[in-house]
Amino acid sequence: ENLEEITFLMDIKTKSVIYASTSAERLTGISVEKFYSNHYIWTQCILEEDKSRVIKGLMMENLLNHFSRFPSYVDDFRIIDCEGKLKWVRIKCMPIRDENNIPQRLVGIIQDTTNEKQDKIEIMRAKNKAEKLAMFDYLTRTYNRRAFFLRAREEYSRAKRQNKPVAVILTDLDKFKQVNDTYGHDVGDLVLKNFSRIIKNSIRKYDVVARFGGEEFVILLSGVDMQSAYKKAEQLRRQIETTAVYTKKLDNHIRYTASFGVAAINEVGKYSLEELISKADMALYKAKNNGRNRVEFV
Ligand code: GH3
Ligand code: MG
Ligand code: MG
Repeated sequence: ENLEEITFLMDIKTKSVIYASTSAERLTGISVEKFYSNHYIWTQCILEEDKSRVIKGLMMENLLNHFSRFPSYVDDFRIIDCEGKLKWVRIKCMPIRDENNIPQRLVGIIQDTTNEKQDKIEIMRAKNKAEKLAMFDYLTRTYNRRAFFLRAREEYSRAKRQNKPVAVILTDLDKFKQVNDTYGHDVGDLVLKNFSRIIKNSIRKYDVVARFGGEEFVILLSGVDMQSAYKKAEQLRRQIETTAVYTKKLDNHIRYTASFGVAAINEVGKYSLEELISKADMALYKAKNNGRNRVEFV
């Protein structure tokens, strides 16, 4: 009676409740007498979404079928308690068998697992958050290098399966050290954010964008050939060139430019992802050497 858990004993043949602890009353608000007269009454507390599943699992013939293979039955579900609060509970029951091994009675326990469940949910949330943080660059909210390779490899294999072209654009801000040196690191950060926003807004769902290094970004375009990738890079270059970033600190707008290197393959499998990136890197180097604020390809 003093246990927090609800304990119960039922007769299998008549489905009548032989015993239910008074804790059942504390949790459900239904008096134990009512349990004795109607074994089904407590199911009204089950949350609507869980109801049919729980009731089906606890139907005597289903339980008996279960006990022919497993020693006990366990289910987790939600109820609305006597105060109208949502609670997680776990029911565990097992048969008591007679000398011929025939189940005669059902003995069980119902625990309030709300706190345990809440802890699990919080752990899951924290885990998801940590995983997300480990994938993203904090400043620009784009993937980091590690996440890029995870996602890019997926897209690369997809393109290979579908026999589609793949392109990589590498882009690096021009004379960015000067931006930092002239206006300060915080203004540099604003420019970086603007740069990443422009790139992110220009890509499609299956493209992958990541901050590859300090002021260098990589874009993987799946299903895109050299000509289209070049056009895309040129469009980005122009958009960046014509963008003015307002900074409160200077109460003025500043302008910046970026250089682009493009590489593409029509047949995935000819080169590895790393080789494609290294080609884009060579093209970027060419763009820097040829005067910056330009797109080159190899
Ligand atoms: P280039 O045109 O040849 O690329 O010249 P650059 O000045 O852009 O290249 P360099 O590699 O000399 O300098 C890159 C600068 O980027 C130096 C570094 O302090 C800055 N940088 C890298 N990450 C960040 C960041 O997160 N915030 C800011 N504000 N600056 C950064
Ligand atoms: Mg640079
Ligand atoms: Mg750089």
